[in-house]
Amino acid sequence: MRAAVYRGVGRIEIEDVPRPAIGPGEILIAVEACGVCPTDIKKIQKGLLPAPRIFGHEMAGVVAEVGRGVIAFREGDRVVAHHHVPCGDCFYCDRGAFAQCAHYKRNGTTAGFEPSGGGFAEYVRAMDWIVERGILRIPDGVDFEEAAFVEPVNTCLKAVENTCLQADETALIVGQGPIGLILMQLARLRGAKTVVSDMLADRLDMGRRLGAERTVDASEDVPAAVRSWTDGRGADCAFLAAPGPVAFAQAVAATRPAGRVMVFSATSKGEKAEVELGLLCTSEKRILTAYSSSIDLQETSAQLVFQRKVRVKELITHRFSLEQTARAVEIAAQPCTGVLKAMIEIRGQREKA
Ligand SMILES: [Zn+2]
Ligand SMILES: [Zn+2]
Repeated sequence: MRAAVYRGVGRIEIEDVPRPAIGPGEILIAVEACGVCPTDIKKIQKGLLPAPRIFGHEMAGVVAEVGRGVIAFREGDRVVAHHHVPCGDCFYCDRGAFAQCAHYKRNGTTAGFEPSGGGFAEYVRAMDWIVERGILRIPDGVDFEEAAFVEPVNTCLKAVENTCLQADETALIVGQGPIGLILMQLARLRGAKTVVSDMLADRLDMGRRLGAERTVDASEDVPAAVRSWTDGRGADCAFLAAPGPVAFAQAVAATRPAGRVMVFSATSKGEKAEVELGLLCTSEKRILTAYSSSIDLQETSAQLVFQRKVRVKELITHRFSLEQTARAVEIAAQPCTGVLKAMIEIRGQREKA
């Protein structure tokens, strides 16, 4: 089968690799669509993990083969696959901190090499613990490319849950890339008022179109703008969905005293920002974090996508074939006008099973 293989810093090669063989309790999925996620991009461009490996974890496709003992799925089922599932039975799982479970950190889907998602390939193997708890059926009328958003929506929903955002609170979302646009929609679904910031005018337009009440150009004085809309207080909660120390400083400064700042999407080692502890402490602002998905939110996230309560299709600006994966990564890596989510569409390119 064909796969986009990561071969070293910034290098993706299209190669013929063996189709993964499955064992008892496992399934083979013919990938139809796989989102290009910023975490994949960072790993590829910064060489954060050793090569070779096949990335891509926001995937949806068709069950092509089922292993012995699998009764929940059959060939031809349309499914979306999570690549991480926690054990459910350790110190961290007991406390709901699933992303810190050692078992969760193991990647349960692979197209070959060190398991790394594997969605940038024609076929992906889902291991037994993923088949047990990490595969969801896609309802009729929902496209594969929409279903591929279940995982990113889950990660964003987890971030919103962690802030305990309340109806009638004001949420600032710093950054209106795909993740910021999903966070904004989720904040709205909780009844919060949303203010969004970005450097790019078309991203602010998209934010407005998807429901943001207010938009502010990130090159302007964002904290002042937010205060002017909140009786001088600032946002009850700010979500960081843009990289860099300036975005973080804006998020902190635009948050009201005793408000919350959700640090999201800062997933690379070495990412740093300065914070004035004296101000943070005396203003009682709380810095919160969230990373990766929560199995407890899997079903809710799927329903938000499947019922189109979170609009994801509009976020796709670029569709590429598997052969164009390197180009897709390159395009999606640079936030610029006209670029939001890139999707690898593998449909029609698959070898006969
Ligand atoms: Zn992702
Ligand atoms: Zn666990």
